[in-house]
This record gives sequence, structure tokens and C-alpha cells, in this order.
Amino acid sequence: MSDVLGYGYDVVVIGGGAAGLNAALMLARARRSVVVVDAGAPRNAPATGVHGLLGREGIPPAELLERGRGEVRGYGGDVVRAGVAAVTRRDGGFEVALSDGRVTRGRQVLVATGAVDDLPDVPGLRARWGRDVLHCPYCHGWEVRDQAIGVLASGPMSVHQALLFRQWSADVTFFTHTAPGPAAEEAEQLAARGVRVIDGEVVAVETVDDRLAGVRLRGDRTIAREALVVAPRMVVRTDFLAPLGVRPAQHPAGVGEHIPADVTGRTDVPGVWVAGNVTDPVAQVGAAAAAGASVAARINADLIAEETRQAVEARHGRVPGRSHTPAR
Ligand SMILES: Cc1cc2nc3c(=O)[nH]c(=O)nc-3n(C[C@H](O)[C@H](O)[C@H](O)COP(=O)(O)OP(=O)(O)OC[C@H]3O[C@@H](n4cnc5c(N)ncnc54)[C@H](O)[C@@H]3O)c2cc1C
Repeated sequence: MSDVLGYGYDVVVIGGGAAGLNAALMLARARRSVVVVDAGAPRNAPATGVHGLLGREGIPPAELLERGRGEVRGYGGDVVRAGVAAVTRRDGGFEVALSDGRVTRGRQVLVATGAVDDLPDVPGLRARWGRDVLHCPYCHGWEVRDQAIGVLASGPMSVHQALLFRQWSADVTFFTHTAPGPAAEEAEQLAARGVRVIDGEVVAVETVDDRLAGVRLRGDRTIAREALVVAPRMVVRTDFLAPLGVRPAQHPAGVGEHIPADVTGRTDVPGVWVAGNVTDPVAQVGAAAAAGASVAARINADLIAEETRQAVEARHGRVPGRSHTPAR
């Protein structure tokens, strides 16, 4: 990756996943100077393919982003591999400090840093993440169709996940693990759909020949499974926004953290925007890319409004941004 970093962009995009790159593509095509600063760890990195994405079904995640970086550069955008350490206000815009010591500046900032999946702490589980330990039926359901699927009660949506995965397989088992068992109505729904419920803590995920083989319950009973569904808690990586007072909040769906924003992606801090999983934990790749494109158009409109204001003031011989109310 070429690593040319200028100083003084219209927009600094922090995070170069689907959301950040699509935003940068739109901005570069809008003849805006833009840089994407990306640490290079997208959420779906462990997966072999991106599914449910029209026109690029099954493309490896790294290949999709490599193509995206090429498209951004093709319109004159810069893409830099680095982490962002801090964003502070400076001269009506923002100074962006990279963790490698470099500094740049943007009139506006788009945060598209995604989220990290905080996985249940069960030995052997993390190593299978994105392969046969899964969370999303639309990402992986087809790949595990008709398999023996386990669902680990690990979040508020776990019963819902079991009912969803039942669409892809008739062999679904719900493990209550450390949670209280399903409520009476949920238990009836699971029974009606033929989902078996097994009580007891899951103490290990077992693997044979690099494939998930089953889950071990406390007391040494093992239940054979080919895939295990979990409900990770989403955690956002936005400490670098603290100097601006932008802080994560709990998402109303109970799935973890996000940065709140209005429907256009505008945060409470003027000039700071968000798109993708950092604000919408359930956005898949297509939705994250679409959000990036949409927020880019809003940012461009904001910049045009500012430039138009300045042009009108200059036409009247006024210094932009200075009050011209006569002194009394
Ligand atoms: C295992 C798994 C499989 C999935 N499979 C699918 C699928 O098949 N289909 C689908 O549509 N969706 C899938 N998803 C969902 C998909 O990962 C998300 O929709 C998508 O990654 C969201 O894009 P994003 O741009 O918001 O964030 P990300 O793709 O996570 O990109 C964020 C980027 O920001 C960077 N970053 C973070 N902090 C900083 C910082 N401080 N400075 C600079 N850069 C930073 C990260 O390194 C990363 O490169 C899957 C998710 C998982 C976990």
C-alpha cells in the first residue's frame, strides 16, 4: 500500500472498511481531497467470503477492500495504512494524529472504524471464530445448511438466533450455558420449531481435524455439533474521539456499544460524522458501504454550504467567519 499522507484535506476518513472506502470513493469523485487512514483489521477478516453482496457474492474480504482502495486512488484519493491516535479541533477543522507520529488535518472527519466482536469466554471458541463459530445467518447460514448447529445463549438475541438458524437446518440445539433458561413463551416457541434445549455450562469447544466437532458441558458430556452460533458483544474503537467529547453509548438493541448519530450520520459534534458498524452494529457489508456513500454526499453538501457562505461574504468584501454587526 502506498503511504502518501498530505496535510490539509477536505475530509479525513478514519477506517478503511466498506463504509470508509465507499465514502472516500464518493468524495474523491466529488473532487474533494480525501485521505483514508486505515489500521487494516476489518471485522470480517476471519471469514473466507463476503456473502449476500450483489455483484461480488463470495469475494474474499481482503480482495474486496483491495479493489476499493484501488478505486479510491483511481480518483486521486489517498489511502494510508496506520491507526489514528487522537483527533482534536484546530483552526475551524480537525487535526488527526496517527499512532506512527504523523499528523494530518481535515475540514471534516468521517469515523468508519467498525466494531470488534467481544466473544464469549469459552476455551477453544475464539480459534474457530468466523469459520464454524458464527453469529449471522445471512453471512453463514447457507454454508452450514442442514448441519448440526448449536446456539450458545450469550446475549439478548440468542433465542431469536436459534429460531433464525432453524430456517437453515432442522437440527438446532440451544445451550442455556450460564444464562437463565428461556422464558416460558420462548421455550414453547423453541419446542414448536423442534429446537432442542440443553441446560448446563459449556466449558469447551472441541475440534477434530481443524473442524468443530462439538461442545463439552460441565460434567464431561459432549454434544456433537458442526457449527456453533454465538452472540458477541460489539465494542467500538473510538478512544481517539475522547478529546472532542464523542463517546460511545449502549445500542438500544442490547448488542453492545455504538456512536449515536442522526439518520444522516451526523454526530453531536459538528464536522464529525459516522458510518458503518461504528454506529449501526447490524449493518452488513452492503449496508455499511451504502451508509458510507450516503454520509459522503451529506458531507459534500455541508462543505458546499460553507464554501457558498464564504463566497457570498467575500463578494461583499467581508472577512469570512467574522461578525460584521456595526459596533454601537
Ligand atoms: C466473522 C464475520 C463474518 C461476516 N461475514 C459477512 C458476510 O458474509 N456478509 C456481510 O455482508 N457481512 C459480513 N460480516 C459483517 C461485516 O464484517 C461488517 O458489515 C463490515 O465489516 C462493516 O464494515 P465497516 O466499514 O463498518 O467496518 P470494518 O469492516 O470493521 O472496517 C473498519 C476499519 O477501521 C479500521 N480502524 C479501527 N480503528 C481504527 C483507528 N483508530 N485508526 C484507523 N483505522 C481504524 C479497522 O482496522 C478496519 O480496517 C461479517 C462479520 C463477521 C464478524
